[in-house]
Amino acid sequence: MVKSILVTGGTGYIGGEVIDQLLAGGYTVHTTVRNKAKSEPKLRARWPEAGERLKVFQADLMSDEGWAEANAGCDAVAHVASPFPMATPKDKDELVIPAREGTLRALKFAHEAGIERFVQTSSAAAIAYGQPDKDHFTHLDWTNLAAGVPPYIESKTVAERAARDWVATHAPTMTFCSINPVAVFGPVYDDDMSTSVEMVKKIIDGSIPLIPDMGICVTDVRDVAEAHVRAIEAPAEKVRGERFPTSQKFMWIREMAETVRSRAPEHARKVPKKPMPDWLVKLLAPFMDEMKQIRSELGNVRDVSGKHTEEVLGFTFIPAEQTLEDTVRSLVRKGIVKV
Ligand code: NAP
Repeated sequence: MVKSILVTGGTGYIGGEVIDQLLAGGYTVHTTVRNKAKSEPKLRARWPEAGERLKVFQADLMSDEGWAEANAGCDAVAHVASPFPMATPKDKDELVIPAREGTLRALKFAHEAGIERFVQTSSAAAIAYGQPDKDHFTHLDWTNLAAGVPPYIESKTVAERAARDWVATHAPTMTFCSINPVAVFGPVYDDDMSTSVEMVKKIIDGSIPLIPDMGICVTDVRDVAEAHVRAIEAPAEKVRGERFPTSQKFMWIREMAETVRSRAPEHARKVPKKPMPDWLVKLLAPFMDEMKQIRSELGNVRDVSGKHTEEVLGFTFIPAEQTLEDTVRSLVRKGIVKV
């Protein structure tokens, strides 16, 4: 029998790729969106062949409405939806509350529908922060909230912890695991893209004139989606309770810029070459949210290993250089960036 999977947040960058791979794999997909009237036509245009194999439900993380219908008849859930804004909100609860309550709501309705497999899209944000003496991390590490971390980092850590506690207490037979991606790049479908892709856009569209001394780990949206699909398909004993970081490698922004220059030179005209002095970042930080975020990362190595995920789920991640090239080429091809 063809299996049905609920993917929450079908309008999102990662949610869309998970749906894409599930439909290609022959599954029937249920997906939740916040505004069905607005989003369903876009989803149908993306997968015109899907027909009845794609069912769209309206459900918000902050309300019970629509969740029972979305879960009905499903065999597994990929809970991807969570707020991921570009700007840091003044009130952290704008992120923490929907992340935590939305996850618990998704779990509760999945459990009530008799669903036994639940894959949560967590983040490296729940792994690699608040530990100033460490620079290499694995699936065994947890962000230290006591150290005080930015609201998005807190939201992902709190949501993953809450999910694990809830499953242990209320649904101990459920097979729960999390996917913990680092910064996600790769081909985009349209200009409604994720906060992470904005970073590559800014490198090639000239809006970053100088390169700050910071780095990030890179993962490909296609690998993040594949990890979700494999976590749904794997034998329960292999994935139960697991954390699966997806991370190909750590790169400094200057290395990302160099990669774009060497792999897509025709699109690299505006890619910055000169370093941004740390003093300038610090000077601008009180006035610009972005600089404030960069200031806390200056010179930091935050290297999250994806090796465990490759070994347990049995596939090899796309090289970061390929991911960056594909990101740039799709941003230009779709007309999102003029270079
Ligand atoms: P995205 O494109 O912004 O997608 C976020 C999704 O969550 C959208 O579908 C959004 O719906 C939905 N959502 C947000 N608030 C909601 C609410 N109150 N009720 C219902 N749906 C809500 O971002 P993304 O990169 O695909 O992120 C998806 C997941 O991956 C998130 O859990 C994020 O934390 C995690 N993640 C992302 C990265 C990354 O670098 N991109 C890295 C690690 C983890 P609307 O379209 O209606 O806004």
